[in-house]
Amino acid sequence: MVTEASTNLPNAPVQRGREFLVTPGPTPVPAPVLAAMGQQSVDFSGQDFMDLADSVFTDLEPVFRTEGEVFIYAANGHGAWEAALANCLSPGDKVLIPEVGQFSESWRDMAAALGIGSETIPADWRHAIDPNRVEEALRADSTHSIKAVLIVHVDTAASIVSDIAAIRKAIDAAGHPALLMVDTIASLGTCEYRMDDWGVDVTIAGSQKGLMMAPGLSFTAANEKALTVARSSKMPRRYWDWEERTRGEHYQRFCGTAPEQMIFGMRVALDLIAAEGLDAAAARHHRLANAVRAAIEVWSEGGFVSFNALIPGQRSNSVTTILVPEDFHSKQIRDRARNHFGVALGAGIGALRGKAFRIGHMGDINAPHILGALGATEAALRSLDIPIGAGALDAAIAAIADAV
Ligand SMILES: *Cc1c(COP(=O)(O)O)cnc(C)c1O
Repeated sequence: MVTEASTNLPNAPVQRGREFLVTPGPTPVPAPVLAAMGQQSVDFSGQDFMDLADSVFTDLEPVFRTEGEVFIYAANGHGAWEAALANCLSPGDKVLIPEVGQFSESWRDMAAALGIGSETIPADWRHAIDPNRVEEALRADSTHSIKAVLIVHVDTAASIVSDIAAIRKAIDAAGHPALLMVDTIASLGTCEYRMDDWGVDVTIAGSQKGLMMAPGLSFTAANEKALTVARSSKMPRRYWDWEERTRGEHYQRFCGTAPEQMIFGMRVALDLIAAEGLDAAAARHHRLANAVRAAIEVWSEGGFVSFNALIPGQRSNSVTTILVPEDFHSKQIRDRARNHFGVALGAGIGALRGKAFRIGHMGDINAPHILGALGATEAALRSLDIPIGAGALDAAIAAIADAV
C-alpha cells in the first residue's frame, strides 16, 4: 500500500537539501577554501609557512587597492575596528561619525569604551550621508580636535552604500587633517573600492563576507599618514600594535602563533578573487543585487514589504534590507523561510530589530543561489498570506537574463 506521509504532515519542517545561506555575513565558503582549512598544522617558523603567510599579506594589498601596509588579526571585524582605533588615537581624542546605520553606532560605542569622544552626524538610516554635512562639521572644528572620521562603506543593517571618494573631498574641502577610516567589512570584494585613489588612511575589513572566507580573520590596511600617526598615539595596546607586528621575528606579524588554517583558507580565497578579478566580482554582485531588487520592487506592490534604502542609487551590492509593517514581527518570515523553505535570511538589527529582514547577496554566490533564495522567500511570504505583487521571480530572472 502506498502511503502519502507528506500529506499527513503538512507543517513539518524541511530538514533535507542544502540550506541557502543569505545572511549578510557569514557567507557561503567555497569548497576549495574549506578544503584548504582542513589541512594539518605545520611549523609556523618553517620557511614554507612563512612564505605562504607573506604571500597572503602581499596579495591582500591589491584587494584594498593600496600600497600601504596590511595587518592580519585572528579576530572578527570588531577586532579590526579596535585595532584601527587603538593604533591611531589616544585617550581623550575625538572622532567624527557620520551615521550610516547600526555599524556606525557600534563602532562609536567601541571608541567610547577606549576613552575616545565622538561627534555624530545623525541620519535616518534610509539615506546615505550628505558629504556636505561632513564638511560643515569639520569646518566648525576650528581647533582640529577631531582626529579621525569613521565611516562605514556599506552599512549591513541599513544596506546603504556611502560615497567614500566624496567624503574624502569633503574633508579636503574643509582643510581638515583628520584621518579617514573606512569600514569595508561588508563591501570589500563586492563593489568598487580604491583605498589609495580615494585617499583613505585606514581600511577595516573582515574575512567572512565578500572575501569568501570563514569568519575569524580581520584586516586593517594603513597608509603612510596613518602609520605615522600611530607612532605617536598613546592608546595602551600590544596585541593590536602595528609597529610590533612589523618588526623582529616572523611570528610577530601575528603577535604569536599564526592562525594557520585560516591563512591556508585565505590563500585559496585570494586565488579565487584574483581568478575572477575585482571588477568582474563587482559586476557579478551588481547583477545579482539587481535581481534581488527587481523581486522586492514587485513584492512591494502588495503594500506590505518595502525597501529600507529610499534612493535606488544608494542601495548596496552586498545586502538589501526589507521593511515590514510596524505591527508585524519579521521573525515570522525568517522562521518560516528557514524552517520550511530552506533559506536563512538575515534579521533586522539595531533600530530595525523585528522591523526588517535582510537578504545578503555577497561572496560566493551565483544566479541559482539568488533565484533559489528569492523563490523560497516568496514561498515563505505567500505561506504567511503576506500580500505581494505577482511576478517577482520573473522580474528577477529578467534582470539577470538581460544583463548577459
Ligand atoms: C559584519 C560587520 C561588522 C562586524 O563584523 P564582525 O566580524 O561581526 O565583528 C562591522 N561592520 C560592518 C559593516 C559589517 O557588515
